[in-house]
Amino acid sequence: MSLSVVDFHCHLDLYENPALAARRAHELGAYILSVTTTPSAWAGTNALAQGYGRIRTSLGLHPQVAGSRIAELEIFDEFIHETRYVGEVGLDGSPSCQNSWAKQLLAFRHILKASASAGGRILTIHSRHATTAVLDELDLYPDAGIPILHWFTGTKSELMRAIGRGCWFSVGPAMLASAKGRAMASLMPSDRVLTETDGPFGKLDKQGLAPGEVFQAIHYLAKCWGVDCDTATRMMLQTLRRLTTSAL
Ligand code: MN
Repeated sequence: MSLSVVDFHCHLDLYENPALAARRAHELGAYILSVTTTPSAWAGTNALAQGYGRIRTSLGLHPQVAGSRIAELEIFDEFIHETRYVGEVGLDGSPSCQNSWAKQLLAFRHILKASASAGGRILTIHSRHATTAVLDELDLYPDAGIPILHWFTGTKSELMRAIGRGCWFSVGPAMLASAKGRAMASLMPSDRVLTETDGPFGKLDKQGLAPGEVFQAIHYLAKCWGVDCDTATRMMLQTLRRLTTSAL
């Protein structure tokens, strides 16, 4: 019997055929965190996981749309009590997102505060060109829950700060396609790393990754940890269990 894989950041609802993507993920036996980019997408995306016991859906407001969708924080507050998972949320400091920075901050703070008030959540966080700012916000809201920095793009000193403050990480084949991504992943604590695809946006050889298509990431992490791929997969399943059973 083959081992189940973990894909802790996947946009099931943004595949060309979301229902098919969800069914394939289910048939693969993968543990999936199905993330959303707007609060209004949550109900429909959560419905995709109906009957699939290994798919969880998270409530998000992606920083790249936080500017135009800030009014949806109202919907966020409506659904926060229905899920233990929040994301995709965070900050994006890319030049193209500069003009929405103030609203991004407002949204991220609102979300961290709401997560803390709800008793803490498992958060999958985007931090492109904004790692320090994300960590600063997390420091302000220590009760928000367990932060998982997805597709880490920061510097080594930012990574050390993130590790020091208890962040977890999700890494995928797309991140590991770059030498810098591989260097960062090799420094992450093995008991706080999960795999992800970020599909359909996460790509390998220009192909969007399918849900659960994390093999290259497991292969690389296994090498870093000095174990074989099956052992790395088992370690990750244990990590996932520790995360999902942690008291929040
Ligand atoms: Mn994403």
